[in-house]
Amino acid sequence: MKYVDKTAKAAVFVGPNKAFEVRDFLVTPPPPKMAKMELIASGICGTDVHMHRGKLGVKAPSIIGHEFIGRILELPAGSENCGLKVGDAVIADIAVPCGECPLCKNGDDANCVNMQVTNGGDIDEAPYLYGGYTEVNYTPLSNLIKIPDELDPTMVCTFACPGPTALHAFALAKKAGVVIHPDDVAVVQGLGPVGVFAVMYLHAIGVKTIYAITAGNNDKREQLARDLGATEVLNLTRQSEQQITDYIISKTDGLGAHIAFEGSGAPAAVPQALQFLRNRATYLVPGQYSNSGGIPIQPQLITFKALHIIGSSQYSIPDVEYYLQFLCDHPELHETIKKLANKYKVEQVNEAFEDAKSGNNIKTMLVK
Ligand SMILES: [Zn+2]
Ligand SMILES: [Zn+2]
Repeated sequence: MKYVDKTAKAAVFVGPNKAFEVRDFLVTPPPPKMAKMELIASGICGTDVHMHRGKLGVKAPSIIGHEFIGRILELPAGSENCGLKVGDAVIADIAVPCGECPLCKNGDDANCVNMQVTNGGDIDEAPYLYGGYTEVNYTPLSNLIKIPDELDPTMVCTFACPGPTALHAFALAKKAGVVIHPDDVAVVQGLGPVGVFAVMYLHAIGVKTIYAITAGNNDKREQLARDLGATEVLNLTRQSEQQITDYIISKTDGLGAHIAFEGSGAPAAVPQALQFLRNRATYLVPGQYSNSGGIPIQPQLITFKALHIIGSSQYSIPDVEYYLQFLCDHPELHETIKKLANKYKVEQVNEAFEDAKSGNNIKTMLVK
């Protein structure tokens, strides 16, 4: 195939709070051990919004974004046995664990202490295009996960990062011996993509009572949470924090919830969960993905309630594979998931970011 001399558009991050610059890049053959892919869909993540607001350090200029779903256009020589072929739809996972540190060696590579990423490469040096906000992307073959033919790749994009993020937290809980029972009362804090996925997952594994806590006035989002399995949506704009805490405790015979999942990123969510969780409850905290400042907590609640608090940040390839398996196992969710995407072209990146920041979109994604 001759893609040399053709160009692809990419959105270049040029610094916090600045508009992205849409530039044309030369499309070159893939370097050794990397695939060249065309964009199918690429999500804008909460992490990207934090970066754009200057809350997470990232170099500029660079192509950010890490939720690239693409179709393989070209493979380098010598990749006959890589298990992938031209035309395959794949998820490009950005995490590159070192494989050498004690965590990697212990099967915990999502929490590698020397973690590198595939995006953020030098945009002035071929093949230029490494991140998510681009019409063509180059990713190491070892970071590509084939999407089963039965799944629509654009549908897969919706939770391509939030899904594995949430699933990794549940996997760490399982590893720690936490068993979630259908009769447990669960609380999900925050209804962004990670929180929405957690609601969906808890419902799918049979949890009958799921309270979702959100804020603001977004009826569509609240209806969605109920459609996906939330028993009730509690809203911090309509009710006080104390009223919501009291309500959860009153609904659980005065004992509190068995498990809570922090997906809001709001520091205030943490002290609230310590209040509404019961003795020996589990608190999963994958949602605090930027430094939004400290907040006083009542540490004695951790002691007196003997709480089990589990943080979780990165995910790794097994979590992505589990995510794909989850979608294959739950075809009944596909139509709803498809409706959650708000789609934009790469050149509409700034509009896409504004809409992502407004909180009106459930999932913002760039598409071909
Ligand atoms: Zn992400
Ligand atoms: Zn490592």
